[in-house]
Amino acid sequence: MVVVMRGGASDADVTKVVKAISEVGGDAFVSRGKNQTIIGLVGDLAQFTELPLHAFPGVEDVIRVSKPYKLVSTETHPRPSTVWVGDSSIGRDTVTLIAGPCAVETEEQTEQGCRMAKEAGATILRGGAYKPRTSPYAFQGLGEPGLDILHGVSRDLDLPFVTEVVTPADVDTVAAKADMLQVGARNMQNFQLLKEVGMAGKPVLLKRGLTATIDEWIMAAEYIAHTGNLQVVLCERGIRTYEPMTRNTLDVSAVPVAQSLTHLPVIIDPSHSGGKRELVLPLIRAGIAVGADGLIVDVHPKPEAALCDGPQALVRDDLLQLRETVQRFAGAAGREVATVDRQRREGAWGRSAATA
Ligand code: PEP
Ligand code: MN
Repeated sequence: MVVVMRGGASDADVTKVVKAISEVGGDAFVSRGKNQTIIGLVGDLAQFTELPLHAFPGVEDVIRVSKPYKLVSTETHPRPSTVWVGDSSIGRDTVTLIAGPCAVETEEQTEQGCRMAKEAGATILRGGAYKPRTSPYAFQGLGEPGLDILHGVSRDLDLPFVTEVVTPADVDTVAAKADMLQVGARNMQNFQLLKEVGMAGKPVLLKRGLTATIDEWIMAAEYIAHTGNLQVVLCERGIRTYEPMTRNTLDVSAVPVAQSLTHLPVIIDPSHSGGKRELVLPLIRAGIAVGADGLIVDVHPKPEAALCDGPQALVRDDLLQLRETVQRFAGAAGREVATVDRQRREGAWGRSAATA
């Protein structure tokens, strides 16, 4: 933090600020310029938050230079983390494919969609049982029976799954079956949900809010981390811009920016950003090229009959190209495509829990 004194501030004003800082255990470094005096504060930011520095005589401004997030910040943990979902990993040295249907509709559709995902090389399955829909008249998801379907399919295919939880009241139910909990874009700043999800102790996939800044998104991750759960993966899923030709605008620059600010893995969602099947592969190429640690992709065995997001779902004919695109672009980015590897997991847990 930096305290900027007014041009006419007296020596006594400066001394008062310095004294207050040292009284809470911080160090103050006074820099006297020709027209203005600046005081640099060093110490734990938490020490200074209670100090009403703005109200001190002679103070013009108080500027935070250190980031407000701590636990998820590269400042406190410079090495990138790997998050484990069952026996599958998401981290900086690989590209992980997560895929499956947008929504669980029937057992057959879920089974087919998840098989398609596995065929394309996915190591984590996706599917929504609780759907956050813009319209109350749209399909809201099957709820708990949908969760059971997804759980059954995931165990049959021997792959873990991620699924969204939309309200704190459902966290325990979802966490009892899911391998990873998703907080959707619309709930990114539902702070009570973030706390409950964090406390469930499962890995969390945190989507970026439709209009959230990168700092707000990372602060939401800090909420989860604050509960003691550092197994968080950030997902850039497109933001709201003035452009109506795509559902959202994939903010590719958010990937390297977030990776520079936080040690958490950052993945992209090419399906919910573009909103159109033909944009999914180009956006995957862009995402891997800017360094995304993974992708979450909608697939559907029969998108023309889908109850949710059919136009953006990849179909059977796209699977080979999906697999090849991920492999080729991961290779070009100097990474391997993630595979399920139990031994690596055992090694990683042995090193240091979620942040090996
Ligand atoms: C989803 O992944 O099914 C979803 C609803 O995504 P988002 O929250 O990014 O819109
Ligand atoms: Mn969807």
